[in-house]
Amino acid sequence: MTTPVTLASQILTLLFSVADYIISPRDVKKRCVCILNYHRILVSPDPLIEGDPDVQEFHWQMRLLAENFNVIPLQKAVQAIAKNGDLPPRAICITFDDGYRSLHDLALPILKKYKLPATVFVTSGHIDENNMWNDRIIEAIRCMPNGTLDLRKLSMKTWQINSDKDRKRAAQEITKAVKYLPTSSRQETVREIETLAGTDGRSLMLTRKMIATLADNGIEIGAHTITHPILKNLDNQNACNEIFESKRQLEAVIAKPVNFFAYPNGKAGVDFDERHTKMAKDAGYIAAFASSSGPAMHGNDLYQIPRCFPWDSNRFMFGLRLLRWLANNDRKAP
Ligand SMILES: [Zn+2]
Repeated sequence: MTTPVTLASQILTLLFSVADYIISPRDVKKRCVCILNYHRILVSPDPLIEGDPDVQEFHWQMRLLAENFNVIPLQKAVQAIAKNGDLPPRAICITFDDGYRSLHDLALPILKKYKLPATVFVTSGHIDENNMWNDRIIEAIRCMPNGTLDLRKLSMKTWQINSDKDRKRAAQEITKAVKYLPTSSRQETVREIETLAGTDGRSLMLTRKMIATLADNGIEIGAHTITHPILKNLDNQNACNEIFESKRQLEAVIAKPVNFFAYPNGKAGVDFDERHTKMAKDAGYIAAFASSSGPAMHGNDLYQIPRCFPWDSNRFMFGLRLLRWLANNDRKAP
């Protein structure tokens, strides 16, 4: 019997099989690559976290990519962008930002199963220790008792937190409020919130050993600064240190060159500017990645390559969205 899922898969396969003839330019120089930008993989859906797939969802996304797209190593995509080289039709790269340990525990077995290349951009100062500041906010809010959360003494407001929905909203608003604070006041504010909640900040991040295992399994390791600051908020000396030192620290862990860099938060002009693209170049990175959405193709600035986020929790729509994204962006030379 044909189930709706089987029927959806069959329709997708049919669409993919004709897509190359309809949408993919014969001129390979005009093709683009969709560089997917993941962060964390969750064990199960989390009512407080939006946008990160759980392991089941990630599994079917990878299966769909393996069966219907050409997943290529980031190195190959960068070569094509730099040298006008070949890109296959329906080209995809897989990247993960921040360096969550779920990449080692949950994603790696799936990537290996489908033989999919991937790159992880690691925040080197979080190796073996602290969680990312935004996760510390979520975990603190999760542990707080029902009632009023009063952060007026931290120049914020009060929230009523009596449900998952309330907690999610409070965590999102607090994250937004502290994101652009200078690094030291951001750390201080997060520590105050943790003190209020009595949380210990259990580590969600990769260890040194895990990073070495990922590298041994063919996962490309890229850098993502030391402390995940908004680079534009730093003076040049500190920004330089974040960009240069994270490369050196990660190279010491994997004993091979770290060739790629991703800007924290990643919006050009808001989170980083031309000073930082130059620093990335001077530090010896071959390419650097933004988080702005767009096609990666020949003609891109190698030090602000865009990525994309065509998420959908429905596999049919995920496949269609990726295909539509590639169709819309192929042919558009930047
Ligand atoms: Zn990040």
